[in-house]
Amino acid sequence: MSHRTAVVPGSFDPVTLGHLDIIRRAADVFDKVYVAVLNNSSKKSLFTVEERIGFIEEITKEFPNVSVEASSGLLVDYAKKKDAKAIVRGLRAVSDFEYEMQITSMNRFLDESIETFFIMTKNQHSFLSSSIVKEVAKYGSDVTGLVPTVVAQALKEKFQ
Ligand code: ADP
Repeated sequence: MSHRTAVVPGSFDPVTLGHLDIIRRAADVFDKVYVAVLNNSSKKSLFTVEERIGFIEEITKEFPNVSVEASSGLLVDYAKKKDAKAIVRGLRAVSDFEYEMQITSMNRFLDESIETFFIMTKNQHSFLSSSIVKEVAKYGSDVTGLVPTVVAQALKEKFQ
């Protein structure tokens, strides 16, 4: 059987335990997983791409088949470069659906040979997003339990 590679893309600003769960489950199914940290110019980010990559590397270091990289162009081009036939995204509530549908159909238009797969989030992460975490961390709340320890610490320092 051929080697199955997937790309898990996102802003990950910062990575949450919901993201980590998706990455871990993708790494269970695919032989190789590239976490692509997107430098989305339309979104103002709290952490630099390098910082975001550092957090994900730290929390995935025990997964031998996961690599973390920056990606700035079109996602399908990145996937092609990595010889990945699959894009994996996480799905939370119905509210994610329309947006994901839009991206998926655009990516399919750009390259029909790349398939997008969705992993349903665990119940406990259904209402967890990077933006809501940043929102409460801004007011000095402790977000341990929602994000990896390294991220909780970085948020604390950022907003001190
Ligand atoms: P983007 O800016 O591309 O939406 P995000 O970093 O917000 O990137 O999310 C990356 C991926 O992780 C998306 O597929 C998103 O739906 C998924 N995701 C975000 N939060 C969670 C969560 N709590 N549980 C599962 N998947 C999630």
